[in-house]
Parts: sequence; C-alpha cells; structure tokens
Amino acid sequence: MTQADIQTIRLTNGKTANVHTQLFINNEFVPGNGPLIETINPANEEVICKVHSADEQDVNLAVESAYKCYYETWRKVAPAERGRLLNRLADLMERDKDEIAILDAVDNGKAFAVARDVDVTESIGCYRYFAGWADKIHGKTIDTTFDKLCYTRHEALGVVGAVIPWNYPTMMAAWKFAPALATGNTIVMKSSEVTPLSTLKFGELVKEAGFPAGVVNIITGYGHTTGSYLSSHPKISKMAFTGSTFTGRKIMESSASSNLKKLQLELGGKSAQIVCADADLANAAFWACGGIFNNHGQSCNAGSRIFVHESVHDKFLELFIAETKKIVIGDPFNEDTFQGPQINKSQFDKILNYVKIGKEEGAVLAYGGKRWGNKGYYVEPTIFTHCNNSHRIMREEIFGPFVSIGTFKTIEEAIDLANDSDYGLAGGVYTSDLDTSIKVTNEMQAGTVWVNCYDIFDQSTPFGGYKQSGFGKELGKYALHEYTQVKVVKIQRLSKI
Ligand code: NAD
Repeated sequence: MTQADIQTIRLTNGKTANVHTQLFINNEFVPGNGPLIETINPANEEVICKVHSADEQDVNLAVESAYKCYYETWRKVAPAERGRLLNRLADLMERDKDEIAILDAVDNGKAFAVARDVDVTESIGCYRYFAGWADKIHGKTIDTTFDKLCYTRHEALGVVGAVIPWNYPTMMAAWKFAPALATGNTIVMKSSEVTPLSTLKFGELVKEAGFPAGVVNIITGYGHTTGSYLSSHPKISKMAFTGSTFTGRKIMESSASSNLKKLQLELGGKSAQIVCADADLANAAFWACGGIFNNHGQSCNAGSRIFVHESVHDKFLELFIAETKKIVIGDPFNEDTFQGPQINKSQFDKILNYVKIGKEEGAVLAYGGKRWGNKGYYVEPTIFTHCNNSHRIMREEIFGPFVSIGTFKTIEEAIDLANDSDYGLAGGVYTSDLDTSIKVTNEMQAGTVWVNCYDIFDQSTPFGGYKQSGFGKELGKYALHEYTQVKVVKIQRLSKI
C-alpha cells in the first residue's frame, strides 16, 4: 500500500475519513491503467475523490492472480482454516464498523446510522454465517453395488467473477465474497464505479485478516469495459452478478460467447404488496411504507406496486401517508436521518421524469413528487394512486422513493395483477386470514413472499428471483450450491469378494 493511494476526505459533519483509490490485486493496492473515475457525494454533488479503474490488462492481472492462488494455494487450505479467516475478517469489520459505514454513507448517500446498523451489521452476520459453513460442506456416499465405493465431492468452481451494483455496496459484496470464499473459490470482484470506496477498504481488511495473496481481488471500472472484460474472461468459472436486468442479459451474452461460465443473476424488480380487506391496516401501512421507502426506494425488492382492496383503500391511504410523513429526510450524517439523497443526477432526473409520466398517464399524485431541498439529489417520498397495470409507473422499475397504488375487488384479481409483470423478485400480502395468506404465497410468482411484514432479511434465508428478476439463490444453505460443483467418484474394489 502506498501513501499516494490513500486520500483523506472531509465529511459533512466536519470529520475526516481515509479512502483507498487504487485496485486491490494479489493483496496489494496497485495503480490501474484505465481512466480515473470521479466518485461523487450525492448529498452535496461534490467530487469525493478519483479512483483508479481497471483496463483489460489489469483485469487479466487480477484474474491470473486469483487463478494461480486457487491452484497453488487456496484449494489446499483446510476448510476449517477458511472458516477461521472469514471469522477474523468479520472481527475486523466489527472493529472498523463506523469507518465502513462512513464510506457507504458518503459514497452512496445512505443514512450513516442505517449503513452502520443494517448494511454493515448484516454483512458481518453474513461473513460469520458462511464461516460456519466452510467445514460443513459434505458430499454423499451412494450405495451402488457391493464391490464399489461411490461418493460425491462438492468442489469449488475455481475463480469466481463478481459484479455488484451501487445500492448496498458493502452488503452486495458480502453476499458474494462470503459464500464464494467459504466454499473454497478465489474471487475477482468489480465494485460499482459509482460506489467503489467501501469495497476498497475491504481489501485492506482482507490482507490484515491473513488471507493468502490472490484469494480476493478487487477492481473497479465502468461496466461496458472493466465489467465486460471480466465477464468474458476465459479463466473465470462463474459470474455472480447483481444489477439491472438489462446488464444481466449482457453478462449472459458474454458467458455464451466466451467459455459458457456458470451464472447467477440477481436482477431488477417491481414487487407487489397486496393489502386485503381483513388486514390490520395500521400494521400494513407501517410495513408497506418501509417496503417501498427503505434505502430511498433503491432496493431491488422494493414493494413499488401496492394493490389495496377497494373497500379499505381510503383508510389505508390515510394511514400510509401518515407513516410516510414520519420519514426524516436530510444529511446522511444526522443520526435521525432515514432518507438521504438518490444515488446520482441521472437517477434523480429519471425519478422526477416518472412523476411527469404518472400525471400524463392519468394517475393521481397523492403525496410528494418534487425535489427535496435545493442541494443534493433528494426526492420527496412520492405516492401515486388510481394506478392500473397499463401505466408505465406500474410496470417499469423506477428505483426511487416512488410507489404506485391501485385497487382490486377479489383476491384472485389481486394475484393476477401482482403476477402481471416481467419481474418476480419479491412480494407481500397483508391479511388476518390464514387461508388467504396460503393462497397468495402459493400463487405469487416471486422468489420471496412476506406476510404481514416486508423487507425482512436474514443471512440464513435464501434470496433470488423468478422470471426476469434472475436466477440462483444468495444467502442461506442454498447459496453453497451456487458456488460448488458436484463430482461423483466410483471406485472398483480389485480384490475378490
Ligand atoms: P447496473 O446493471 O447498471 O450495474 C450493475 C453493475 O454492472 C455495475 O457494477 C456496472 O458497472 C456493471 N455493468 C454494467 N454494464 C456491464 C456489462 N456490460 N458487463 C459487465 N458489467 C456491467 O445496475 P445498477 O444501476 O448499478 O443497480 C441497480 C439495479 O440493480 C436495479 O435494477 C436493481 O433492481 C438491481 N439490484 C438487484 C438486486 C437483487 O438481488 N436482485 C439487488 C440490488 C440491486
């Protein structure tokens, strides 16, 4: 690590933080040959610093480092030792929790308190969870004939390539690093060019934890260059991707035209929340509000469509608006702030353009719909009513604090409306009737369905999409299958029985 690599930034609360700006390859911070990329604080629209980016040669270097390490070192390391290293990493993250949360808050605009208590805390839990799995990944012995021994081995894939988005920089990294390393792979991760800082800090902790050089490599750069070099690299065995459905398609094309590498795609969403006539409406309003407005609406699983039974629509709306009014918007470094700015100017413009589209389509703006303040990319929580499935605001992923509300008459109609989407990431239903909850959860075409709550995560429960929200599961025991391949061994006994 060189001093030139570390820059000191001044935070809005007057404090300072140090950031790495180079690539992390083979346990060293090294300069990249790609263009320098400005990373911007969305709360004040000012440049935080410039980070290095990886060109094709740098991507090769990172992949070669991971490849060599996998074959020469890492695959021979005992599973229990992999678990110990992951736990050590989690300890270091615990020690530096505030610093990591600061980097996500300044780079992404999310509230510091949320970054610390949700993003970083849950990421630490994720590393610990998969550390526990490292020495519990077993094959089976299979009885075939009396003179043979047959068993399966769950082997690592080799070098995993990972590409992550900007909405949860620390957490999206954890969801990929932790299972990939626990199962014995090495990894090259490209962070989002919009939020590279916390992932680079992570490189420092990897080295301190004692991981062999080459196990973890972190690069950043633009998607169409750096991301594309990585996803078409012949020595990458699998791409673990989180991002938009549009980019997911590009990654599939790269895999198809290179080495048919395995894929895991966690893509976009337009998830539905169904509020039944028999729901506890105060509870529904509380969870539905967090369901859409958590993380400023920048969550893949955001419950951005709400279908309410027509008989309780007005009452629900009143409660929902009352919940929305409680949202504290402001400087991410104020301890009370819940909602910071949107990630960047293009998202800010896109969301406000959808307000225009919603009005033009004939939906009714019930709350918000404007810029908040006059500096930073802040948007008011925005609620449209009288929406139907022909409206673009009901069909397209907006990825902001923007919810579209429609009504239904029967539960069958509500399920049809919810399923009438290209996406299938998540959904929710609010009801006090067990039969209704079973019917909706069975019939909703989504990878996660919450009942009487929303947006609850745990590292032990799998997460992933149906339909164009992608395939493969992150978290939980299911994630282990995504990072291993099964080999069957058949041994013939030579001596006579
Ligand atoms: P994005 O697809 O624009 O970018 C995601 C990442 O892909 C970035 O690192 C980007 O540099 C890279 N990339 C872009 N083009 C590429 C290419 N041709 N080849 C390789 N990599 C490329 O998405 P975003 O705007 O950063 O994130 C928002 C999207 O992510 C939303 O659609 C959201 O729903 C989705 N998301 C999904 C999940 C999930 O678990 N399903 C979680 C978080 C976010």
